[in-house]
Amino acid sequence: MLDEAPNPRSILDDYPRLGPDDSFTFRCDKGMDCFGCCCRDVSIVLTPYDVLRMKRALGLSSTEFLEKYTISPFTKEQKIPAVLLKMDPETRRCLFVTGGGCSIYPHRPWACRMYPLGVAEPQNPTPDEGRFHFLMKEDLCHGHGEGRKWTVREWIEDQGVEQYDMMGQAFKELMLHRFWDREQELKPAEIEMYYMACYDLDRFRRFVFETKFLEMFDVDEARVEAIRTNDVELLEFAMLWLRFALFQEKTLRIKPSVAEAWRRRTAAQEQSGEGAPGARQERLANSHG
Ligand code: SF4
Ligand code: SF4
Repeated sequence: MLDEAPNPRSILDDYPRLGPDDSFTFRCDKGMDCFGCCCRDVSIVLTPYDVLRMKRALGLSSTEFLEKYTISPFTKEQKIPAVLLKMDPETRRCLFVTGGGCSIYPHRPWACRMYPLGVAEPQNPTPDEGRFHFLMKEDLCHGHGEGRKWTVREWIEDQGVEQYDMMGQAFKELMLHRFWDREQELKPAEIEMYYMACYDLDRFRRFVFETKFLEMFDVDEARVEAIRTNDVELLEFAMLWLRFALFQEKTLRIKPSVAEAWRRRTAAQEQSGEGAPGARQERLANSHG
């Protein structure tokens, strides 16, 4: 929850690395004179699981939650859209902060749980140099050096981060995929599909159940029933779908009859000159209309 994120190079070079059993002294409670200061003017990037937890806690659809509580700035340098928690345009405060603290505390995002710990990982990790934690120290936060001693492991457990890490694993793998190293930008339909599958889960559910999706893909009955009602299962399925649609991995199976029809259609299109590279991906991306 930094108003200005530290430079990744300086984290790797300058910040002391903390392992799971390293400790720090920190206090954060309503008695602190800085209580709530860190919930103002911050850039909090949300994960798909963060969105799922918050929209469910607020009883909103994912579309409503995204519209009301998030922004999704998208610059030319970005390959994929990021979703950030919206701040009040006048006060610059998080829309969930109250005099008594965070109004969605049991469902607060991963970044809010982790603070004041950060996580970093070199681009090419080695057995000696991999993922590590570091301590973020800002003048506005008076909790450092106060209260009790925490090991990194204890903090992570106390803040309920493990469940978020577990649920975020498939998304992390998606984000770290070598596919993103390519120069080519995603097409608008692919960006839209990525946003929907990662964050707008209720819309993604309609895409699965209200289009020809289940006529095209072999999804076993137990999974169909699970994704109909369970958001966590649906999110896991959405990650598989993105790997299939964007990376062209065999994470989903097209029904043999559909595959055969596609083969015939592609052959006919190639003969007529419509089968240019990328056309298949574009057709898939457009198929959620
Ligand atoms: S979600 Fe809660 S903890 Fe996070 S910035 Fe907003 S009020 Fe603070
Ligand atoms: S101690 Fe730090 S984290 Fe806790 S309320 Fe104060 S500024 Fe926020």
